[in-house]
Amino acid sequence: MTQSLIDPFARPISYLRVSVTDRCDFRCNYCMAENMTFLPKKELLTLEELDRLCSTFVAMGVEKLRITGGEPLVRREIMTFFRAMSRHLDSGALKELTLTTNGSQLRKFAHELAECGVRRVNVSLDTLDADKFARVTRWGRLSQVLDGIAAAQDAGLRVKINAVALKDVNEEELFSLVDWCAAGDMDLTFIEVMPMGDMGEADRLDQYWSLDDVRAKLATRFTLTDLAERTGGPARYVRLEETGSKLGFITPLSHNFCESCNRVRLTCTGELYMCLGQEDMADLRAPLRESSGNTALEDAIRAAISRKPKGHDFDYSRQRIGGQVSRHMSHTGG
Ligand code: SAM
Ligand code: SF4
Repeated sequence: MTQSLIDPFARPISYLRVSVTDRCDFRCNYCMAENMTFLPKKELLTLEELDRLCSTFVAMGVEKLRITGGEPLVRREIMTFFRAMSRHLDSGALKELTLTTNGSQLRKFAHELAECGVRRVNVSLDTLDADKFARVTRWGRLSQVLDGIAAAQDAGLRVKINAVALKDVNEEELFSLVDWCAAGDMDLTFIEVMPMGDMGEADRLDQYWSLDDVRAKLATRFTLTDLAERTGGPARYVRLEETGSKLGFITPLSHNFCESCNRVRLTCTGELYMCLGQEDMADLRAPLRESSGNTALEDAIRAAISRKPKGHDFDYSRQRIGGQVSRHMSHTGG
């Protein structure tokens, strides 16, 4: 193995999130505009290039790969890529291969994912109300996602639900979401809506429901015990004493989580973002395509990691949005 990746703040980089497509079969209103223009195919890394890049990161010490998008399961032949990555699980170099999905294609792929060594999936689901679901996702159908979740569980995958906390959408559903996840033996994590993309500030603030409020509302019914568990990411966990279930909160806007950040993000065009909340990125596609050897690529990765910033600058304070970044979440991969 080549020398592992340590950033300037002594944080080891062991987690790579990879967006394999910018496309999606949904158009969630906090994530995409209804009329999105997607990238021409030649801009995208091929599955072979994704394999080479991810394998290079694994050789440099990445132990966890999360595949995301856009919707990762709408990328053509994506199972070829999962199968290829499973060889790093077999060798022991990779500890975890996982994905974040909207769940629409899980019925089709859950078994194959399990065969490739995937043990857990994160499914994004903000509401259990079919009409609201259709409104938020614009093109999605709730029944298809629920069926996908059932298929994943049948295939032996552990499912974690990610719900974006949205004012006027799932505020009233807080307890039913918690109960539904507990009944289905699924962990649940709430995410604060982040200022990504080019939506107007007014819209963004309209959607914003602070997780401090979510917590306060939960505390009216449950006893919340903070858990020490850390994933190196922005999630903080509590246990609901009455049910024993675990709840996560991803609060990049209300709390600082950067000091333990162990991750970087690769876009489907080969841009490496060292921080979700900053514009700086490194192009890895050029060194990848430049030569069939990996020296230039490894040098570019090391140079990028040496620029990883200390943290992000998101701030919703005083009813204005500071630190907004212009790209959509589907570009960097959530
Ligand atoms: N399509 C897959 C899905 O929806 O799970 C993977 C990609 S999606 C961009 C990853 C996650 O980002 C989803 O959980 C989604 O809810 C979240 N997300 C998208 N836009 C967001 C935003 N502006 N703020 C917070 N979370 C966002
Ligand atoms: Fe698609 Fe996921 Fe974005 Fe929704 S959040 S539009 S499912 S990429």
